[in-house]
Amino acid sequence: MPQILIRNAEIVVTMDGTRRELAGASVLIENGAIKQMGPGLTAPNAEVIDASGCVVTPGLVNTHHHLYQSLTRAVPGGQDALLFGWLKTLYPIWARYMPEDMHVSTQLGLAELALSGCTMSSDHLYLYPNGSRLDDTIHAARELGLRFHATRGAMSIGESKGGLPPDALVEDETAILNDSIRVIDAFHDPSPGAMTRVALAPCSPFSVSRELMRDAALLARDKGVMLHTHLAENDEDIAYSLAQFGVRPGQYAEDLGWTGPDVWHAHCVKLDAAEIALFAHTKTGVAHCPCSNCRLGSGIAPVRAMRDAGVPLGLGVDGSASNDAGDLIGEARQAMLMQRVANGADAMSAREALEIATLGGATVLGRAEELGSIEPGKRADLAIWDLRALAAAGSWDPVAALVLCGPHRVRHLLVEGRAVVRDGRITTLDEAALAQSARRATMRLIG
Ligand SMILES: [Zn+2]
Repeated sequence: MPQILIRNAEIVVTMDGTRRELAGASVLIENGAIKQMGPGLTAPNAEVIDASGCVVTPGLVNTHHHLYQSLTRAVPGGQDALLFGWLKTLYPIWARYMPEDMHVSTQLGLAELALSGCTMSSDHLYLYPNGSRLDDTIHAARELGLRFHATRGAMSIGESKGGLPPDALVEDETAILNDSIRVIDAFHDPSPGAMTRVALAPCSPFSVSRELMRDAALLARDKGVMLHTHLAENDEDIAYSLAQFGVRPGQYAEDLGWTGPDVWHAHCVKLDAAEIALFAHTKTGVAHCPCSNCRLGSGIAPVRAMRDAGVPLGLGVDGSASNDAGDLIGEARQAMLMQRVANGADAMSAREALEIATLGGATVLGRAEELGSIEPGKRADLAIWDLRALAAAGSWDPVAALVLCGPHRVRHLLVEGRAVVRDGRITTLDEAALAQSARRATMRLIG
């Protein structure tokens, strides 16, 4: 029974039912789960991780990403465009991707996330050029060692049918559903402690048919997997919904079976009061992506109103072509700042932002019973932040400091009790070699 003792943390931020913060505490891990925490723990046979001067938090959870976009960051034509124009710039580049590009971009994106405290990430892959498959990203995530919720995305309405993407990037809807069944059967692990889960995720209401949205929901319910898509991202998105479907996005989602605790929608920047009430009532989750919303000028999501109403809400970095960073603790800071811009300086505390980043994300991905807090019996997904770093020097409150100042990189990161980051370095792959592979792949895409 391998044991790990995280010893003498300055603070352990539990995110338990009463949000306890334990000073001078240790955490004992056994077989990938948290066994015990508190001051003065000993375990003679355990591997010891010294956490002196460190804050231990639950691992951060990323609820929305397009990891493949990691090779298209800071693309000149997409730097200053709104959503639809930005997509039209990038689609032809993405059409050149090969399976190995999916692999390297996934590892690049996840490695960055890991260094910023993320232990579990979802990914939304909705295009499959040149033989690429969801499998490429799942294998990449397994090699790195993060907990991974892959989503089988899809686009089926190309330009010739009035959609946004070029015809070369869309798929036949029967083929989409068949491949969805294949990847669920091959990779979805419903058991507790699962490292890999699969969800179904048509890209957005403006790139698939009403029938595919409905059929995906039916298939997901049949297979017991979750549903994910983009919704109400900006004003263009709302206008499209009203023009094409005659209803706002919330109504469209509800009509097609896209509400419930097994559904989470990315962005929801433009939800109105009735839609917020609908999501709260049905426990439909939201992936809030503050930096991406800023980057694309989409607006400020009504996070305060959603939280107050009881909408489950987690953070997402969103795709690397619209962020373009992969700094999940930075997203917590940005979420807090944006609510303050909209609603005043007391609109969101640093601790609430940290809660959204951890427990909030685990709830949105349907994992709150086993992840998102540090409690006996929960899985050992932990981020260990060294407050002796320059970024946090001078801070009076080590927990608030994580969001208000830093550091933005972890000292250690454990997933299922395994160290994916140790002393600030990824343990499972060579960072320099990964960066070089990503650079080579990017050069090929630039052509
Ligand atoms: Zn997205």
